[in-house]
Amino acid sequence: MWVNFIVINGNKIKLAHDITTLQQSFIETEKETIKAQINQLFQQINYEINTTEATLKKNIQHHIYQAHAIATNIYQQNKHLPEAQVTKLITDALRNIRFNQGRGYFFIYKTAGTSVMHPVLPTMEGSSKWDFKDTRGNYIVRDMGKIVKDAGEGFYHWWFVKPRNKGQEFEKIGFGKYFAPYDWFIGTGEYIKDVENDIKTRLLERIDHIRYGKNGYIFVIDYQGNILSHANKQLVGTNRLKVRNLQGVSIVEEGLKIATKGEGFYNYISPIMPSTGQPAEKMSFIKGLPEWNWAIGTGSYISEIETYLTERKDSISKQNHNEFFKILWVSSFLTVFFVALSFLLSNYLARRFSLYESRINRDFSELNTIKEQLQHQALHDALTQLPNRALLDDRIVQGIALSKNTNKSLAVVFVDLDDFKKINDLYGHSVGDSLLKMLGKKFNQLLTAGESVARFGGDEFIFCFPELDNLQQAEHKVKCIQEIFNTEFAIDGKLISSSCSIGIAMYPNDADKAEDLISKADIVLYKSKSQQKGSFLFFNETINKQVKRDFTLEAQLRSALDNNELSVLYQPQISTKTGALVGVEALVRWHNATLGHISPDEFIHLAEDIGMINDIGLFVLQQSMQDILQFNQHNNTAIRLSINISPKQLINPKFVVQTIKKINEIGFAAHLITLEITENVLIANVKKAQPILQQLKEAGFKLSLDDFGTGYSSLYYLNNLPINEIKIDRSFIDKLLINNQNESLVRTIIAIGKLSQMTVVAEGVETKEQFERLIQLDCDKIQGYYFDRPLPIDILTSKYELKK
Ligand code: C2E
Ligand code: CA
Ligand code: CA
Repeated sequence: MWVNFIVINGNKIKLAHDITTLQQSFIETEKETIKAQINQLFQQINYEINTTEATLKKNIQHHIYQAHAIATNIYQQNKHLPEAQVTKLITDALRNIRFNQGRGYFFIYKTAGTSVMHPVLPTMEGSSKWDFKDTRGNYIVRDMGKIVKDAGEGFYHWWFVKPRNKGQEFEKIGFGKYFAPYDWFIGTGEYIKDVENDIKTRLLERIDHIRYGKNGYIFVIDYQGNILSHANKQLVGTNRLKVRNLQGVSIVEEGLKIATKGEGFYNYISPIMPSTGQPAEKMSFIKGLPEWNWAIGTGSYISEIETYLTERKDSISKQNHNEFFKILWVSSFLTVFFVALSFLLSNYLARRFSLYESRINRDFSELNTIKEQLQHQALHDALTQLPNRALLDDRIVQGIALSKNTNKSLAVVFVDLDDFKKINDLYGHSVGDSLLKMLGKKFNQLLTAGESVARFGGDEFIFCFPELDNLQQAEHKVKCIQEIFNTEFAIDGKLISSSCSIGIAMYPNDADKAEDLISKADIVLYKSKSQQKGSFLFFNETINKQVKRDFTLEAQLRSALDNNELSVLYQPQISTKTGALVGVEALVRWHNATLGHISPDEFIHLAEDIGMINDIGLFVLQQSMQDILQFNQHNNTAIRLSINISPKQLINPKFVVQTIKKINEIGFAAHLITLEITENVLIANVKKAQPILQQLKEAGFKLSLDDFGTGYSSLYYLNNLPINEIKIDRSFIDKLLINNQNESLVRTIIAIGKLSQMTVVAEGVETKEQFERLIQLDCDKIQGYYFDRPLPIDILTSKYELKK
């Protein structure tokens, strides 16, 4: 609506402007029109004026030629008759001829001046007009006769005063043609004024009839104020110079003022407008014609313009009005249409939107569920549904904060199942998984508010017990955990027993960070497991140092061979029969720059664990064979070489081949080598070991059961394994003289050896008493500090070569 208003208003302003312009241009065109009318008329008048004389001349010439032709014709037919008679015939024919509204007539003169015919003054005929003069003193007949006679014909001018207008002379033009037979000239004359008056009459008649437009006419006034032509016939012939209109203006006087000076426009109130008969404002153009003292003009009625303009204005505003309503109608329609449309559309959209909204809400809740699931998955172990490492860290951090506030302790309890691998191997992984799940549940049931348990990985679980008052509370919790393992677990119809080892680290004593607490609990767990499975250990600095030393040891051992830190010592074995040196046991030594001397008891296990035992074994084999080979080369009788073989080394598939290859390389006799294998470890792997021992035997090696008595050896094993020697463990020799039970045990061992045709060696013999008792018991060989400690090869050489 607002836009409509602007459009309409703009139109209105434009209309007002248009109307003003229209008015001006209308008046301008109107002015041009009326001026053009007048000028056109003037052109005609001027033409008429300019051609008056010529028209007149042509006119009278024409009449004379006719008259002359008539006279000539009559003469030709009657020339046989006397002149007077022919003259009579001719004059009779011509005398009564009149033309130019009866003004024109023919006259005939002898060139000598005698009047032959004069229809207006017949009395004059026969007399001479030789001396007849006009008002200006010209000899009319005389001069005209001469011109005609000389040229055959010709025009002549003279001036007369008309009888009615005595004070004014009028020009008259005559034409004459010579009639030779009788020396006549036939002539006629005409006043120019008369012709002019004819023209004026004719023009006024024509002007009278000029009409254009609704009210257009032309008026003619002479300079005296006489109306010569006017649309109002009653006014013609009246003089209106002094007549004033209602406004007191003499219209005629005003017009003449302009006309006498030239031409111009002027406005006035006309008493009557032809179409209405009412007074109306008029705009006229008037122009003077000084030749005739005429003022000719025409006008246009301003009210007519106004009427026209009003009509136009009305029609335009009507049109605008119509247009406004059209626009109003269309815009209203459109508004209603669009309102309805947008209503429908918004309804539709609202419906769609609520549909979308509910779908989005559904999707969102689904997404949230998934998110929660993912979050749960990210923080929980899939198998047991217990928190995982990440969540555990958080819980410990929270627990530490809580315990810090209440000035209490927190225990991180690291639980590791013992021999979980065995359960997996024995019953299958699904049983293993079920066991872990069941444990997860049981562990969870132990918890009270604020406590948590997490699966740390594999068979490892970690508990976090915050806000503890003392170590006893922690220990109580640990015992509750251990109790779970006191009963067997029923899985898949099987009863499975299990145990765990536990390491505990406390906040704030041991550490104050989750990470450190876990790693310290792990350290003591490792220690507790290696010391005694199924037990628990609280973290302390000693253990920490030990474990750390273990780590250093491991790192150093890896580079020990490359750094030539290993060497071999030889401990002599003495025959009880001869008292002579019969063999040596090769014992490895390790000296490290930072750790000093490390006992093989300590590092051999480590070497087994980290897979270095084969390399170390090969080194000992090579070194000892080289040393003893050399020793034997300088001795009368070759001594035997005993080499300790770790069970891990023995069951290595390459062991036999590598060993044989080595002795062949060096050129050592296999039958001089005794391979010592620890009894208890051998029995644990008897199935695997048996064929290997067989191969070694076939290759010529002797085999010795080391540390005999510590394991669970039975006769069966001794009989079924290719054993050549048994070595009574040092612990029995130690207690040999202390209790009888021990002595009988040693006696039995020696008896079994003898029965099985095996050499019996006693190791760790430190005293003379022990030595003598062993001789009594008929032991074959003696090894121990009583004779020698393990010796470097050069000492062994210098000591025993001398005895040679
Ligand atoms: P083992 O085979 O029982 O070796 C005998 C150990 O008893 C040696 O300890 C030796 O020094 C010690 N010994 C000898 N006589 C006496 C004595 O009169 N009194 C006391 N108290 N001890 C005595 P060592 O050298 O520390 O070796 C310890 C163990 O390390 C050995 O026990 C053996 O099982 C292992 N071992 C040593 N060298 C090697 C090796 O080259 N390879 C393998 N696989 N194991 C080795
Ligand atoms: Ca040994
Ligand atoms: Ca031993």
